[in-house]
Amino acid sequence: MTAKQLQFVILGSGINGLSCAIRLSEEFPNSKIQIISEQFSPNTTSDVAAGLWGPYILGGTPDAKCRFVIQNKKVQIEDFISIFVVSEDGRMNHTTISCNYGELDLPIACGKLNLSQITNFQGSYSVAFMYATFTCEPSKMMNYYYDILSARNVQFLQKRIQSINCLEMLNISSNAIIVNCLGFNSKYVFNDCELFPVRGQVQKVKANFVFHSIACESCYIIPNTDTVVLGGTKQKSNNLNVNFVDRYNIRNNCHDTLPALKEAIMVTDNVGLRPVRRSGVRLELENITSANGRNYAVIHNYGHGGAGITLAWGCAGTVVQLVQRYAAKGSKL
Ligand SMILES: Cc1cc2nc3c(=O)[nH]c(=O)nc-3n(C[C@H](O)[C@H](O)[C@H](O)COP(=O)(O)OP(=O)(O)OC[C@H]3O[C@@H](n4cnc5c(N)ncnc54)[C@H](O)[C@@H]3O)c2cc1C
Repeated sequence: MTAKQLQFVILGSGINGLSCAIRLSEEFPNSKIQIISEQFSPNTTSDVAAGLWGPYILGGTPDAKCRFVIQNKKVQIEDFISIFVVSEDGRMNHTTISCNYGELDLPIACGKLNLSQITNFQGSYSVAFMYATFTCEPSKMMNYYYDILSARNVQFLQKRIQSINCLEMLNISSNAIIVNCLGFNSKYVFNDCELFPVRGQVQKVKANFVFHSIACESCYIIPNTDTVVLGGTKQKSNNLNVNFVDRYNIRNNCHDTLPALKEAIMVTDNVGLRPVRRSGVRLELENITSANGRNYAVIHNYGHGGAGITLAWGCAGTVVQLVQRYAAKGSKL
């Protein structure tokens, strides 16, 4: 098989499916790419996320693998339509303050706050860290990706996939490389019993006076460009309904931490299921045979837990490498 003839069918159109489409279309410009998905932005789990860049609820993903994927991220500031503001006195002002969270292994401007700085925050914290990171607003990022992909003639098909057998009904050639980015639903479509949902409820509010993210034991507050994301829950549950007790607790905990938020106008409540996998993110190639005996090469890319926005670009890079190895072998596994 030559790179010229490659065909990709990407299942799922969240941040991972779209990042794969972008990187595959860059690496294999003559390939044919189709994205099949039940939902598109703004109706994916990725749209619920605040997009703070950092590792969080990653199941058993080893630190080394996580660090590799993060380093593999090609940070193009112009790609991140969201916040990366430099303040008037020259400091990057999108900083994150993390209270009582333990030592964090993050690269830029990480330091412990002294006691007088800590008392600027409500609550009785004894340890707090401040570090620089950035926020990549998923919905804006995904819109930007759709524009690029449409210009590259990537095809989109809205369809629910029940199992690998559906690919035959859709006339997908067995030469096509399938890239599985179905997020939590990989549990059912690819029978992965290691996946479990960690439910996250958030509230987006108008509060243009918030410039720093704050994460502590009881809540987090993350500014995006148009709204501020108040969170949140992490419950082992697959309930996608807004829970009013959760909503009350989120608002209360965030008000306690930053009292000015009491004036913030509510925009929307959102719930999403973080796709957490016991042994960590799944990034590998598998040969799957359908009920009718057709073989498909499937590259899995799912199970990103609470850090799918952070890891998407790097994981898509690994998908490209898996394709290169597969294509170099000349045919099937
Ligand atoms: C409240 C909350 C806050 C978060 N905050 C952050 C954060 O600040 N930073 C961060 O890095 N991460 C964060 N995350 C995690 C992040 O949102 C996820 O890891 C990420 O969205 C997973 O992306 P994905 O593309 O794998 O899955 P999804 O976004 O779920 O996309 C899956 C796609 O597959 C499609 N699909 C599913 N099943 C089928 C089917 N049967 N047939 C066809 N199509 C199907 C869906 O329609 C969708 O298009 C947060 C998550 C939550 C819930």
